[in-house]
Amino acid sequence: MSDLVYLKDEGVNAIQPEFKRRFATVKAHFFSRNPDLWPVFREPGFATLNEFRARGLAPSARLNAWPDGRARLADLCETMPVPQAMRTPGEPMAELLFAGALSKDWENPSSVENVVTMSADPAIYGAQMGILANPNLVYSEYAGVAEELEKKVVRQIALLAGYDPARATGIFTQGGTFCNLYGYLLGIRKSLPEAKHKGLGHYQDYRIINSQGGHYSNITNLSLLGVDIENKTIRIQVGENNDIDLDHLERTLTACFALKHVVPTIMLTMGTTDTFGVDRVKPVVELRDRLCERFEVAVKPHIHVDAAIGWSMIFFLDYDFAANPLAINAATLAGIERNVSRFAELRYADSFTVDFQKWGYVPYTSSLVMIKEQDDLKTMENDPENFSYFERDIQGHTHLQSTIECSRGASGLFGAYAALNYLGVEGYRTVLAHCLQNANYFRFRLSQLGNVKLVAQENQGPSVGFKIYNPEWVSDPEAEFAFELARSTDPAYKARLQRNTDYHRSLFTGRGKVGLYTNWVEAIAHSDYDARGKYSYIAGEKAVFMNPACGREQIDAFIDHIRG
Ligand SMILES: *Cc1c(COP(=O)(O)O)cnc(C)c1O
Repeated sequence: MSDLVYLKDEGVNAIQPEFKRRFATVKAHFFSRNPDLWPVFREPGFATLNEFRARGLAPSARLNAWPDGRARLADLCETMPVPQAMRTPGEPMAELLFAGALSKDWENPSSVENVVTMSADPAIYGAQMGILANPNLVYSEYAGVAEELEKKVVRQIALLAGYDPARATGIFTQGGTFCNLYGYLLGIRKSLPEAKHKGLGHYQDYRIINSQGGHYSNITNLSLLGVDIENKTIRIQVGENNDIDLDHLERTLTACFALKHVVPTIMLTMGTTDTFGVDRVKPVVELRDRLCERFEVAVKPHIHVDAAIGWSMIFFLDYDFAANPLAINAATLAGIERNVSRFAELRYADSFTVDFQKWGYVPYTSSLVMIKEQDDLKTMENDPENFSYFERDIQGHTHLQSTIECSRGASGLFGAYAALNYLGVEGYRTVLAHCLQNANYFRFRLSQLGNVKLVAQENQGPSVGFKIYNPEWVSDPEAEFAFELARSTDPAYKARLQRNTDYHRSLFTGRGKVGLYTNWVEAIAHSDYDARGKYSYIAGEKAVFMNPACGREQIDAFIDHIRG
């Protein structure tokens, strides 16, 4: 029997009336596209777009529902030169409106495909303010006071995460991928300063450490940096809940130091994309410090945490779980409390990734890399002679010489500031709890069907991964999944796994999109490791509950539909 609270009964998953009331306010104020509250939506093009998308049409019905939809699409697909003639301002640009309205409608209540969301109304307003003003964050002279706004958001996030805001710094950059790139590069610049001019591995042998549960950017960035991925990157094994195996990390780091390999960066993950695995940080920091002392390693490996999705949990770090003022239901309260015990360790990281564009409800792109000690950024400084465009005196006062990019747009920053400061901690807690209550209710409903296995079911994130088995072949989904995990070279094993996957896949493709627009993933879980540390992937289905518009109605419709 599982001791997971959300599996207990329907009661622990019920929505409390007090919560319902609070969430209704958050939704009406911040996720309603109401032009009375947010007059930007009164602009005629925006109004038409919002009206169309508010219809919540099924994906297959959208194109035909737009006047001349098919002709518009054909027009978009055609090759046409830039017109010679000017158009008059005020003349509607039908193709632009079409492209906006018919782009993916994340505000559709059934949209749960991935870690992507509709933006909050204030975030849209804020981002537009940034676009209108158009500061360039590359350099103070081009940014003006926008530079102070960036620092302000950095201090707010530092306070939420438990960093010292006087020592910490941060950079808004191009997506979570770039934040992780900063994480790697900070370690490389600290441990291998020569690499700036000579490239990696010039004087000293090195190993980069990351997690097998990490996002693909954890690997693609290494390729970008010229790291030998096959021979100089060590991926730490993960457990059933997709967090790293601390024993494997200890063996690995010990071996690296014993062999005098430099370890520039250890990349951890808090909130893996598909299963919300959350790595511990404090034991990793303690391990690093202990081994650095033992092996007399002068420059410690930089520990970066990829918290692209998970960071939002820091809004709950000082929530009063005993009093539970938001009336979060018992199932989700327990889940958030479990998360908080881990996310409280984020402050031990040397740097971490924040994607406002994910579970922060800010329009693309809005990502922030947070750095615990601003001095670390000094090691990133490029040679001053590269920056002859800029006045010497001002250079030292900005991140100019330490950033990977040159121009940095400010719409993400303005959007983030507006979202953080209109919603406040209370608004964020309310919408995040709504999503997690949905996720747990969905898990509960799936668990009641009798032929479904929930993947990484202890994890309490917005993603719900699951496998549906044929009840005629499988009476115990837990046992069947355990069989699948026990990787084997036996052809009978492969055939059985394939038969199960084909069954689920055919249900998925055959049933159409009803209630929830779930997704198929080739790697919803990985098998156990064999004696050589090899593993294989197991496919399955997932839904990600980040959508404030999604509720019980959509979940019930999906469950009713799959029950047939
Ligand atoms: C989405 C994601 C990323 C990449 O972030 P982008 O903003 O899409 O570049 C990195 N890590 C994790 C865990 C993610 O979920």
